[in-house]
Amino acid sequence: MAETPLLGETKSLLRDLVGFDTTSRNSNLPLIEHVADYLSDHGAATRLIPSADGAKANLFATIGPDIPGGVVLSGHSDVVPVDGQNWSTDPFALTEADGKLYGRGSADMKGFIACALAMAPRFAEMDLNRPIHFAFSYDEEVGCLGVGRLIDVVLSELPRPAAVIVGEPTGMQIASAHKGICAMTTTVRGREAHSSRPQDGVNAISAAASLVSYLYRLCDELAETDRDDRFEPPFTTFNVGQVGGGDAINIIARECLLNWEFRPIPGADPADIIARVEAWVKDELLPRMLATDPSCAVESICEFVVPPLDAPEGSVAEAIARKATGLNSTGTVAFVTEASLFADAGVPAIVCGPGDIAQAHQPDEFIEITQLDSCLGFLERIALPS
Ligand SMILES: [Zn+2]
Repeated sequence: MAETPLLGETKSLLRDLVGFDTTSRNSNLPLIEHVADYLSDHGAATRLIPSADGAKANLFATIGPDIPGGVVLSGHSDVVPVDGQNWSTDPFALTEADGKLYGRGSADMKGFIACALAMAPRFAEMDLNRPIHFAFSYDEEVGCLGVGRLIDVVLSELPRPAAVIVGEPTGMQIASAHKGICAMTTTVRGREAHSSRPQDGVNAISAAASLVSYLYRLCDELAETDRDDRFEPPFTTFNVGQVGGGDAINIIARECLLNWEFRPIPGADPADIIARVEAWVKDELLPRMLATDPSCAVESICEFVVPPLDAPEGSVAEAIARKATGLNSTGTVAFVTEASLFADAGVPAIVCGPGDIAQAHQPDEFIEITQLDSCLGFLERIALPS
């Protein structure tokens, strides 16, 4: 198959994007400024929406008329670390082999961003009847922390878009639903004492263990009462991922820290689940601890929360994606995206993008070139007069 100039341009843009090490711990400003310059060279109105400390930024850009009703092409600029992974190629130098392009972020999700950028000159020529927006965020991989500022600015200061396409890798299938995620840190404070005198102490590790078993009981209970068969598994899942605490084998542990998460199905309210955990702590766990020492405490902090996505059937976003893909069905994805944050802010959103999520976050991450080609056609059809 001969490569079209447009596909060649997409590969070249992807090579540039992969070359910026935008691991979430780094600034994304070199990439974002590069992309903003490129888009303004092609006639886009661009706007940077910086993080509170100015070290990172979202980019929002528009081609076409300055009116409501546009379509947002949304992606995150950050990537997950390559630390400890065994790569066969330089992860930050795009490498082509056997119809695939290897590099960190090639699938998740600089491939989509490269396609959107490659289309910019076409969009600029097309005399669009509705605007095409580009929304590129930071800190998605560490809890969708950046895009909230972008959504605030778009909704308060700019013409309201009609729909958002989040180009996370779905193999160009349309995903209209996903679970959410809520990341929690719980600190359990007990009272230290010599291990031979349990009556003098409150063991924070033991109390934390009770909380861990309660979390998994709650998971089992929700699995019985609250199901959504579109997902596997079809219920809200819990995971306690990290535990730390204690000082020595012969000291009753003073403190224990738990990092845990749950992934709510659509319809499950994260705040309700947290309230149930807090109620159990207050009614069951704390009284036993306080009886020995009134300074004992169990404190939980929500580190971040991304709500579930459940785009209503026939939403504007779904209609646009169906028309542009030719697909007449939608599915679900197992991962969390920024789509639910747009949807919760009142802008219909779905997920559809090139590549396979199985490659995301892996060593030797790649995207198939045919996926980029499909995505280019998809974006062209989005921009055609409706
Ligand atoms: Zn992603």
